[in-house]
Amino acid sequence: MPYQATLAYAKSLDEQDPLRHFRDQFYIPPHNGKDSLYLCGNSLGLQPKSAEAALQHELEHWKTHGVEGHFRGDMPWKDYHKFLARQSAHVVGAQEKEVVVMNTLTTNLHLMMVSFYRPTAERYKIIMEASAFPSDQYAMESQVRWHGFDPEEAIVEVKPREGEETLRTEDIVDAIEQHGTTTALVMFGGVNYFTGQLFDMKAITEAAHRVGAYAGFDLAHAAGNAPLQLHDWGADFAVWCSYKYLNSGPGGPSGAFVHARHGNNPELPRFAGWWGHDEDDRFLMRKGFKPMPGAEGWQLSNAQIFSFAVHKASLDIFYQASMPALRAKSELLTGYLEFLVQQASEDSGRFRIITPGDPKQRGCQLSIYTESGGKQLFDRLSEQGVVCDWREDNLSGKQVAPGEAGVIRVAPTPLYNTFEEVYTFSQLLGH
Ligand SMILES: *Cc1c(COP(=O)(O)O)cnc(C)c1O
Repeated sequence: MPYQATLAYAKSLDEQDPLRHFRDQFYIPPHNGKDSLYLCGNSLGLQPKSAEAALQHELEHWKTHGVEGHFRGDMPWKDYHKFLARQSAHVVGAQEKEVVVMNTLTTNLHLMMVSFYRPTAERYKIIMEASAFPSDQYAMESQVRWHGFDPEEAIVEVKPREGEETLRTEDIVDAIEQHGTTTALVMFGGVNYFTGQLFDMKAITEAAHRVGAYAGFDLAHAAGNAPLQLHDWGADFAVWCSYKYLNSGPGGPSGAFVHARHGNNPELPRFAGWWGHDEDDRFLMRKGFKPMPGAEGWQLSNAQIFSFAVHKASLDIFYQASMPALRAKSELLTGYLEFLVQQASEDSGRFRIITPGDPKQRGCQLSIYTESGGKQLFDRLSEQGVVCDWREDNLSGKQVAPGEAGVIRVAPTPLYNTFEEVYTFSQLLGH
C-alpha cells in the first residue's frame, strides 16, 4: 500500500473507513478543550458511552429487586457470566464453553497454573519470554517456589539474539525442544507489552505439545487487539484482562480460556469454589465439589455484576464491529503510523521502531525507541495533548543519563482512533 504523508490523504483514509462511526460510541478525554490524541488503549481503553446505562441498569435492578435480582429480569445475576460468553469467545477465537469471565488477570493466571503447572522431579520447567510483564514473572517464580523448585533452574527465559530486540519463533521453538522432556509448561504473552511483538501462538503451542508440555498464554495485550484462534491452535489455557484494549474500565474483570479437551475433564485438579460447581444443584449447598463442564468449572465466586455489566457493554461493541474487520483496519492504521514514524525518524535520526515490521508479528502498538532525550520528547508530546506512555530502558547497554533512553509506546486502536490522529501524532513527533 503506497501511503502518503499528507493530511488530505489521512482524511481520505478516514472517509473510506467502514468502522469510523464507532469512535462516536466512546468518550475521548479532553485536553485544553479539545479531544486529546489518545493512543493509550494498550494501558487503559476508553469508556464506551453505553457503559453508564449498563451500570445504571444493574443499580436499578438491585434497587427494585434486592436479592431477587439474582433470578429476575432478562439478565438474572446468577447467570450473568453466561451473557459474556459469546462475545468473549468471538474475541479470542474459542467455543463459548471454553471461556469464562471471572476474577482478575493475575488471579486467573494462578488458578490456571494450579491445573496446568503440576511439576514432577523430571518435568518441572517453565519456558517463557524474557522481560515478560512483571506480574507474570512473579506469578511464575512464586508457583515454582511453592512447588519446591528453584526459579533459577526451573524458569527458562527465551531472550532475543545479541543486537536484536524481539524474539525469533525458531529460537522459541528451539528452546522448547532443547528443554524437551524436562518442560512442564510453555507460558508466553500473546503480545509483549514492551516491544509490541505478537508471538506465533500456533507454532509455540505445537512445539510445546510435541515435547509433552502444556501451552498457556497471557493475552493482556492481545485480547481485542490481535487475531486469536485459541481453539484451533489447541492452546491449553489463556487469560486476559478487560481494561486494556477491551475498554471495560480500571480493574475490569478478567477472562479465561480452557480448551474443550480439558474443560470436560472433571478429574483435572483445580482450586474450587461454589460458582464452579454444577449449577443444577449449586444451591442445594451440598458437600462434594462437582465441576461445571467447560471453563465455567473454574469459577470461584458469584459474578461482580457492576464490572461485568460494563464489560458486557464493551464486548457487545467488539462483537458488533467484529474482530476480522477491526484487524483489517488495525493493520492499515498501524501500517500508516509506521510509515510516518519512519519518515520522521529519517528526518531527525533520533528514534527507531523496535516493534516487528511484519504485520503478522504485531498488534496495533508500536514501540518507538530513543536513545537521547526520550523523556523530554515524551513530555513535549504530552503537553500537546498526546496520551501515550514512556518506559525508561536502555537497550544498548551504553552509559546514558536518566531520562535519555527508553520507549514511547503508541497504540492506535481501530475502534476509536483515526488516520488523521496518526498523521497529527507523527507531525508532533517529528517537530
Ligand atoms: C496488564 C498486565 C497484567 C496486569 O495484571 P492484573 O492482574 O490485571 O493487574 C498482567 N500481565 C500482563 C502481561 C499484562 O499486560
